Amino acid sequence: MKAIYIEQHGGIEVLKYGDFAAPTAAPNQVLVKIAAAGVNFIDTYQRGGLYKIPLPAVLGMEGAGTVAALGDGVSGFKIGDRVAWAMARGSYSEYCAVPAHLLVHVPAGLDLKQAAAAMLQGMTAHYLTHSTFPIEPGHIALVHAAAGGTGRLISQMVKLRGGRVIGTAGSEEKAAVAKQAGADDVILYRTQDLVTEVKRLTDGKGVNVVYDGVGASMFAASLDCLRPRGMMVTFGNASGPVPPLDLLQLSAKGSLFVTRPTLANYTSPEEVKWRAGDVLGWIQNKKLSLMIEHEYDLKDAATAHSDLEGRKTMGKLVLNI
Ligand code: NDP
Repeated sequence: MKAIYIEQHGGIEVLKYGDFAAPTAAPNQVLVKIAAAGVNFIDTYQRGGLYKIPLPAVLGMEGAGTVAALGDGVSGFKIGDRVAWAMARGSYSEYCAVPAHLLVHVPAGLDLKQAAAAMLQGMTAHYLTHSTFPIEPGHIALVHAAAGGTGRLISQMVKLRGGRVIGTAGSEEKAAVAKQAGADDVILYRTQDLVTEVKRLTDGKGVNVVYDGVGASMFAASLDCLRPRGMMVTFGNASGPVPPLDLLQLSAKGSLFVTRPTLANYTSPEEVKWRAGDVLGWIQNKKLSLMIEHEYDLKDAATAHSDLEGRKTMGKLVLNI
């Protein structure tokens, strides 16, 4: 099968397009013929080696397609079903063997490209706003990179739950997209002082929660944006990993909470059904808007990585297989 794979960690030059041995469905796995794969920042960490993976490896942590074969012990799916998943690697290719408990049916009315685009960032936004720090009416959330794939969805879900969003964005164009996604205010964090602006917008009180996928460059300032007993949710490393933290800072800055969650720990079989069901259902009934900004051919995955890492993108990037 054709795939994008790596034999060593490195820059975009290590991404190879070519023939790779097709997987088969082991027990409790489903072989999916892939129609579209979502591109995520985690793919760049796995390519670059920030997150080490066994090599050689086909990249890609989410996709959608049709069921091609069933491993022993699988129930609930049949050949030809339209399905989607996140957090099983190998979607930058024509086929992927996916653990059945990570797979969901794609509802009628949603195309496979939308499903591939929604799963990973959608379930991430869902667990962050519903489980890690469950937003309640009146909460104020600071959402970094609010025009990004995950940030747009977090902002919308905070609003769905009755919260207020202060978004950040790297340009005026991105700020407009963040506002469309429901951000009540947007701070241009490349030119404006984050802490000053957050304090101004919250009458000096600070926010209840920071959802931060940007990482190193925003962490310290973000702690200063929280009100006492607020929660810092650092969930990504777009600008690099957050350095070690002196825990005494948390008491000095107001008995703060810090967590570093990953979707992998919020996807029990029941949670996959709940989160993916909500996300795909909300897209279907237009409560949630998906923005697929760029589509690439599979062989052009390197361009997608370069665009994502270069801060050139808004919303979601998808590879057509
Ligand atoms: P995005 O679409 O949000 O793209 C990243 C954005 O981060 C950029 O567009 C840019 O927006 C901002 N950014 C700020 N500084 C930098 C920098 N130095 N280099 C690159 N980008 C920068 O990507 P994703 O939605 O795919 O992912 C967002 C974050 O969420 C990532 O860190 C990812 O790892 C994390 N994530 C974590 C998960 C988890 O469970 N822990 C699951 C899913 C995603 P701007 O120009 O507006 O600043």
